[in-house]
Amino acid sequence: MTESQNTRTARNTADVVILGAGPAGLLLANLLHREGIDCAVLERATPLHLRTRARAGFLAANTVRILDRHGLSGNLHRHGRLHGSCEFRTDDGHFRLDYAGLGRGEQHTVYPQQDLVADLLDQYLEAGGRIRFETEALEVHDADGPRPAVTVRGPDGATGRWSARYVAGCDGRHGAARRSLPSTARHHRRDHGVSWLGLLAEAPPSLDATAYALHGRGFAGHMARTPRITRYYLQCARGTRAGEPPEERLWDELDTRMRATDHGPLHRGRIVQRAVVDLESDVVEPLRHGSLLLAGDAAALISPAAAKGANLAVLQADLLARALADDLARGDGRALERYSAEALARIWRAQEFSHWMIRLLHARPGPPDGESFFHESIRRARIASLRASRTHQDWFAENYVGI
Ligand code: FAD
Repeated sequence: MTESQNTRTARNTADVVILGAGPAGLLLANLLHREGIDCAVLERATPLHLRTRARAGFLAANTVRILDRHGLSGNLHRHGRLHGSCEFRTDDGHFRLDYAGLGRGEQHTVYPQQDLVADLLDQYLEAGGRIRFETEALEVHDADGPRPAVTVRGPDGATGRWSARYVAGCDGRHGAARRSLPSTARHHRRDHGVSWLGLLAEAPPSLDATAYALHGRGFAGHMARTPRITRYYLQCARGTRAGEPPEERLWDELDTRMRATDHGPLHRGRIVQRAVVDLESDVVEPLRHGSLLLAGDAAALISPAAAKGANLAVLQADLLARALADDLARGDGRALERYSAEALARIWRAQEFSHWMIRLLHARPGPPDGESFFHESIRRARIASLRASRTHQDWFAENYVGI
């Protein structure tokens, strides 16, 4: 089915209505469709927006294994690049961890998230899957009953209603699923007090490793995306407006924090995307509320410090697809409870490592005091241990690539 045929399809009912066509929603849709489960995806954005929205890029080994297992990784292996090195630059010198040779010996595959989304979308459409673009879910109703419904606003601005057996909320942190949660849902939130200015530059990577620069002026990061595109992060003050700093100043600041005088200047290029990200984590518990199920960023938001968000989204979609198939096709009434428990255990593991990375990469927020000296000394000791201890390096590698 093509994108436009999909938009014209009239039937507003499905066994599983999936909100959101990000990595979580599209993987779930592919897997359910293959199981013969009647599903439909409702997505607020246009197909073009989905295919071009640059976000994550580092896929964990387990993410690739999941996509391999379902035969959804052809392009990823053709165009993605294996990546197994990261470098820390600090006041006490720099060092590299070739994590591909540490821990479980796993590597990342660098493959832009928008390309993964495009692959999943193409495979779903080719298989005849149903999706409605430019259709915003407004609210999920009657999730505690056997026939939940979703009110939507379509491309022409008119509102409509979908009904389902289950609604899978894969529509991110600000989506309708989260807005529709019952008061019994528990939200666990942590604001890490740190913000990053995320930049996407039309410039080749400046080194063959991910770089984490810990500097008195704040953190800076370098992450390859493609041979021509590189992502940079600059820690910035809370409330910074992404569009304000002139390009030249951003490159100068990146050079300073990445210590260009010691390592050579960065490859500069046009900055094509800027966004400020406040580093926050939040987890909803449980992930099942009657007929409403959560996956991906809708279930848990994780700061980009450890590059886990898209990987968690894929993992949860895989678990949820299996649970829904067990429930709908095989009548296993406990499968969805198990999904919630299993996914939450993985989410908290990832949150723990992400939290560790945040404390490693940043000075304590706020004005300097006795506590900040203590934090800084712990941070230096942690870096020294990571530099010298093979056991610490193995632990780091296992958590850094693992999920
Ligand atoms: P999304 O990708 O956000 O998809 C949700 C979809 O729902 C969207 O298409 C949206 O348009 C749609 N939607 C929203 N509301 C509605 C509605 N009401 N009705 C219908 N549709 C709706 N993660 C990593 O693993 N590695 C990284 O290197 C990494 N880098 C990142 C860099 C940046 C700058 C950012 C912002 C994030 C990064 N992440 C990274 C996180 C990662 O991008 C997310 O965790 C991932 O996109 C989550 O996937 P998802 O499918 O749950 O949600």
